[in-house]
Amino acid sequence: MTNQPVQPIFILSEGTQRNYGKNAQRTNIQAAKIVAETVRTTLGPKGMDKMLVDSLGDVIITNDGVTILDEMSIEHPAAKMIVEVAKTQESEVGDGTTTAVVLAGELLKQAEELLEQNIHPTVIAKGYRIASEKAEEILNKMAKDVTLKDTNTLKRIAITAMTGKGAESAKEKLAELTVKAVRSVIEERDGKYVLDQDDIKIEKKVGGSVDDSELVEGIILDKERVHPGMPKVVQNAKIALIDSPLEIRNTETDAKISITDPEKLQAFLDMEENMLRDMVEKIAITGANVVLCQKGIDDMAQHFLAKKGIFAVRRVKKSDMEKLAKATGAKIVTNLDDLTGADLGTAGAVEEVKVGDEDMVYVKDCKKAKAVTMLIRGGTEHVVDEVKRAIEDAVGDIASAISCGKVVAGAGSCELELSLELSKFARKLSGREQLAVQAFAQAMEIIPRTLAENAGLDPIDVLTDLKAAHNKGQLWAGLNVFTGKVMDAWKNGVLEPLQIKTQAVSSATEVATMILRIDDVIAASSSSENSNSNPPGQDMGGMM
Ligand code: ADP
Ligand code: MG
Repeated sequence: MTNQPVQPIFILSEGTQRNYGKNAQRTNIQAAKIVAETVRTTLGPKGMDKMLVDSLGDVIITNDGVTILDEMSIEHPAAKMIVEVAKTQESEVGDGTTTAVVLAGELLKQAEELLEQNIHPTVIAKGYRIASEKAEEILNKMAKDVTLKDTNTLKRIAITAMTGKGAESAKEKLAELTVKAVRSVIEERDGKYVLDQDDIKIEKKVGGSVDDSELVEGIILDKERVHPGMPKVVQNAKIALIDSPLEIRNTETDAKISITDPEKLQAFLDMEENMLRDMVEKIAITGANVVLCQKGIDDMAQHFLAKKGIFAVRRVKKSDMEKLAKATGAKIVTNLDDLTGADLGTAGAVEEVKVGDEDMVYVKDCKKAKAVTMLIRGGTEHVVDEVKRAIEDAVGDIASAISCGKVVAGAGSCELELSLELSKFARKLSGREQLAVQAFAQAMEIIPRTLAENAGLDPIDVLTDLKAAHNKGQLWAGLNVFTGKVMDAWKNGVLEPLQIKTQAVSSATEVATMILRIDDVIAASSSSENSNSNPPGQDMGGMM
């Protein structure tokens, strides 16, 4: 029976959206480019800020790539991949997030032009991968060594990271604090330096000016002592860290105690009091003069502690307890019966200090502190938040510089040199890959171009000048965004860890090639959506 009508075959569930071929590529590239374009204006010292308002009306003002993308709650799958690049960069290096995203966007933009010339995506992807490897090689050759001892270089790296980020006014001082902080907590393991970012606690307090920020070799708690009868300062502190409540626990079930005569009531209350007194006694006997408790402390227990001259803080955050253990060498104890003198930690002093108009507890002068706190001050909430982000970037950069031991100069010098070198390299290749490598080289120019645009300069003039300088062999010729002239970025101390650049190039390449290679987007219908409401231009899930 040959004349029977063909039965449609449905292989996808109803309502599934499908977008394939050139169309899929174009949509994905477009989405990724939009994301890159959004953060592009924030790049560099003259970059603009974004104001982000969430659904509750909370406002964030920032220049930090990953923060912006995080807060934007992006939906498009390809755009989300670009956000991932920023996140990878953030976790691997801690800075350079905007750079990575902008590069990814530009790589895709260049690829789009090649696609128009009917060059197959796999060819472009291959060319990009070759170029990325070569770029890494070139960067490695350019980079110079740095060690833990090069205070000046490290400070310059911190300052470069903070330039244009609200920390401007006090960047010298903040850079010094940051270098000091990283130095005190970085650890050598098997000949390699590693930093656990958690060991640097960044505490914020609105008030004063950014200049009042300080570094404490120990931990600052945004808490006050529980009882005014306790000493305000304890020198040579012996610290007990307790993560169970210093309270009489309520019974699990509802119990009713009937008391028939007043004496029994008194006896009952006395018993409670004695139990609390016992608890305090157990602590005092170990020689502790400071108690930091993760849970509550009963009023009566507070009173007994005060009478013994013990300084106590309650409801300390769990994360802070861990840091305190690291900073003071104390062991966190759950059961008071187990507490011994050996579990106590030490600090030069524990003190309640008035910061602005609030009290904070400083656990300071910890010998060989393996955890430190930077207290950030600033006029408003937005200022301290942005300074905190700037410092986090700086910490990441310094740690990365020390652990990989290499630095390069910024201000677009690196990217321009890369562009020229890759371009030379491309000429040695044959076939269509040459075009892809050339496109990759071209894409590198986006960094100096954007730095120029954001500074209100003419990008064509700037690029021409920079290229001329590099062609004359000035390896570190970069853009002075303040004067618009070409400068030696190295001599001017615009320094960045090598890893910022290599990571940005490699993750941008990875995501760009991944997006290029997608030729089919099959999206399941969200359950709330009606399968008949597919937007025009999208294929229905049911395929023939
Ligand atoms: P990212 O999120 O990528 O770190 P930034 O906004 O921090 O973005 O900008 C980093 C770029 O700014 C780098 O290319 C860096 O070289 C450049 N830059 C930093 N300080 C200066 C400066 N003083 N002069 C010129 N360029 C600078
Ligand atoms: Mg930065």
